[in-house]
Parts: sequence; C-alpha cells; structure tokens
Amino acid sequence: MEEVWPFAIGGAVLTGFITLVAVGLHVLIVIWCYKVGKRKGQELVGLLLGIFLGWIGLIIVYVLPDESATNTPIQTYGTGQTVKCPSCSRMAPAEGRFCPYCGKSLNE
Ligand SMILES: [Zn+2]
Repeated sequence: MEEVWPFAIGGAVLTGFITLVAVGLHVLIVIWCYKVGKRKGQELVGLLLGIFLGWIGLIIVYVLPDESATNTPIQTYGTGQTVKCPSCSRMAPAEGRFCPYCGKSLNE
C-alpha cells in the first residue's frame, strides 16, 4: 500500500493549499471592506461585515450610506468657527451673515 502515500500527502497538501487560498481571499475581502467602510466613515462596520459575512459583507459595505459626507460640517474655510443656524439648526460658518443652507440671517 506504499503507493497510496503520495496521493494521501498530495491530498493533504491540496486541502491545505485550498484552505490557505480561502483564508487569504477572506483576509483580502476583510481589508477591502475596511477600506470601503473607512472611505464612508464606517471602518468598524466595514471590518465587522467583512469578517462575519465575507463577500456578502463587502456588497453591504458598498451600498452603505456615506456617513463621512453628512458628518463633516463646513469647517475648512474662514476661521473654521461654526455657529448653529437658528432657523434650520445646521452648522454654518460663524463669519457668514446668512445661513448657506436656508438663507436666513444668523444674527437673529
Ligand atoms: Zn439655516
């Protein structure tokens, strides 16, 4: 039965190789999920979805709403100071006299 051994070893190596490829692919998907999630300001959600759901998680991360766009107020121009609009409650630049969102005066 000596000729069985090369096949047995070959089978074990093949199984190990397939496992390695599967794990490697999963790690890649998790990293991908993390990067897509990070771009949307939800890197933790992306990471967890990638770990638990694999490529399905990746699809979910892709369709997730972009939180980074809504969570980032206008803070890059002027002094960077913002005031809360008395009319629409959104953050507007402090040096502006009118709210850029609703057009109402900020000094009311
Ligand atoms: Zn407003």
